[in-house]
Amino acid sequence: EEGSAGREAGFWRLSKLAVPARVDPGKDFTGVSPPLLQAIAKALKFPVSSMLPEEAFSVIRKSFDARKILKEPQFVYTVDVDVKKLLDMEPRTWDFIARLEPKLGTIEYMPDEKVASDLISMLHRQGSVNNGSICSQQKKPRVAVVGCGPSGLFASLVLGELGAEVTLLERGQPVEKRGRDIGALAVRRILHSESNFCFGEGGAGTWSDGKLVTRIGRNTDGVQAVMKTFVHFGAPPNILVDGKPHLGTDKLVPLLRNFRHHLKELGVTIRFNTRVDDLVVEGRKVKGVVVSDSRLQLGSPNQALSFDAVVLAVGHSARDTYSMLLRHNVDMTPKSFAVGLRIEHPQELINDIQYSELAAEVHKGRGRIPVADYKIVKSVGEGDAELPEQNRSCYSFCMCPGGQVVLTSTNPSELCINGMSFSRRASKWANSAFVATVSSHDFKPFESHGSLAGVEFQREFERRAAIMGGGNFVAPAQCVTDFLNNRLSVTTLPPSSYRLGVRPSKLHELFSSHITEALQQSIIMIEEEMPGFVSSEALLHGVETRTSSPLQISRNTCTYESTSLQGLYPIGEGAGYAGGILSASVDGMYCGFALAKQLSLFHGDI
Ligand code: FAD
Repeated sequence: EEGSAGREAGFWRLSKLAVPARVDPGKDFTGVSPPLLQAIAKALKFPVSSMLPEEAFSVIRKSFDARKILKEPQFVYTVDVDVKKLLDMEPRTWDFIARLEPKLGTIEYMPDEKVASDLISMLHRQGSVNNGSICSQQKKPRVAVVGCGPSGLFASLVLGELGAEVTLLERGQPVEKRGRDIGALAVRRILHSESNFCFGEGGAGTWSDGKLVTRIGRNTDGVQAVMKTFVHFGAPPNILVDGKPHLGTDKLVPLLRNFRHHLKELGVTIRFNTRVDDLVVEGRKVKGVVVSDSRLQLGSPNQALSFDAVVLAVGHSARDTYSMLLRHNVDMTPKSFAVGLRIEHPQELINDIQYSELAAEVHKGRGRIPVADYKIVKSVGEGDAELPEQNRSCYSFCMCPGGQVVLTSTNPSELCINGMSFSRRASKWANSAFVATVSSHDFKPFESHGSLAGVEFQREFERRAAIMGGGNFVAPAQCVTDFLNNRLSVTTLPPSSYRLGVRPSKLHELFSSHITEALQQSIIMIEEEMPGFVSSEALLHGVETRTSSPLQISRNTCTYESTSLQGLYPIGEGAGYAGGILSASVDGMYCGFALAKQLSLFHGDI
């Protein structure tokens, strides 16, 4: 009794509440609908769902589940019950609440509501901004953050909020100008080597699908703080509830503009078109950076700037920066990643495969059900440790439903691709990377490049792809059926969303036979699981190489400082500590706090 009474003030979290898709108001509705009330009543064992007050419940997560093992597709909810509110509004629920028992994975009791706040409110609440210890410091520590991608932005935000004098250095352009440069690439085939799909404000993920999924745990404090900060800067609040949240390029661009304005208000100096070409190092300690105007030719005048610390958030396409770090003997080691091809199907075909009857509704574009996606992982090989080149994991990666294939090269002699979409995911195509893991034994031919062996491995296939495409950024392509049969596609290729054109090519000859065979075997396995995936309408595009960083820059786990150069803080995807927008943001955020502690700007625990 006492226990139950104590629970009056708390919350119950009910998970796995299923509502059939045919009666649910649809993917964008995050309120409490009558069918959801019925599912809640069932979980509470309360007889009359219409007597439950909607206001006592809040939807925490909503996902769509159309797996074939289910009787019918459904939306699956997690809902928090505010016990006090519920009892105030409907006292007859008391007996039912008192009888609730925690059940692993479906019913959980929480004394308090779990509400992580956005980073800015959190910092303001801590009282560390403007009136905290920092302002008493006579001289603010000067920090350079190199790279304006998610990791660099979040590191700048935390350090700026905590009172450091931050200078954010970005080789690319602000999003407005970057958008025009990307337009020139798509329409006039002009590749700006410093302003493209990889370089510029927002980093690599700006002209992307903006999927906000991560393997580091959606409910962790770090991820929640980052997601809420996105909402603070203008992202739609339903990303906090959606089981597979995504933003799309059209939502990312204004978000980044708001982020920039906030940083400027904090006093962060942002320098676009400013490439860091070198570090100023004295006695294994970084004292500053050497920058040049990225719009001018290499070798143009440069400028040395001094800083107390340098946060390196350059992403995985800054190969010149990697070479510069190697010259300074910074500890880096090659790391496994994955390479492959991008496969594209008509979106309707994927809807048909994944949704069966429900596909008809999606085709009509009513927007109630999300367009279908897929996620596939297959292992090939016998697991024989003696033959590592034959054991690989093959998986789909960065799937963009309703998206398009885009060019992510930073150099005209190399060709690599990726995928992006707009928030409505309304294009006719569904594309996804289909990749196989590669590791040190694959990089053996490039061993002479030391820690950059993986980078050279990537570059080799990007060069081959550019040659296969015949130049002008035309992508080599092959029907999936021909790829499986090792033959050139002789019939007309199916249409592609890739705007710079495709050329029939022998993609089965692009990689080593071990990689090609692994990809082929796993495509055959997928066909068994998703009949129709191997179709004459499915087109493979080459080449997908930049799935994650090909190396890791060693750093201290607690301080984030490089193990070989004092004052250098390597973060994000380029340093090998993140694999997407969310994880890079979280890494940047925590580095910001760790560095702020070392600079005596922050004394709390995060
Ligand atoms: P980056 O975002 O790469 O940012 C690095 C920044 O540093 C760049 O702006 C660059 O210009 C700058 N820079 C580099 N060198 C220098 C230098 N020497 N001097 C000054 N500035 C420099 N992830 C997801 O989670 N979801 C997705 O849907 C998704 N889709 C993607 C689609 C595309 C087309 C691409 C290319 C990537 C996508 N990603 C996606 C991956 C995601 O973008 C990255 O994981 C993420 O951006 C990494 O963040 P970062 O801050 O570590 O580096």
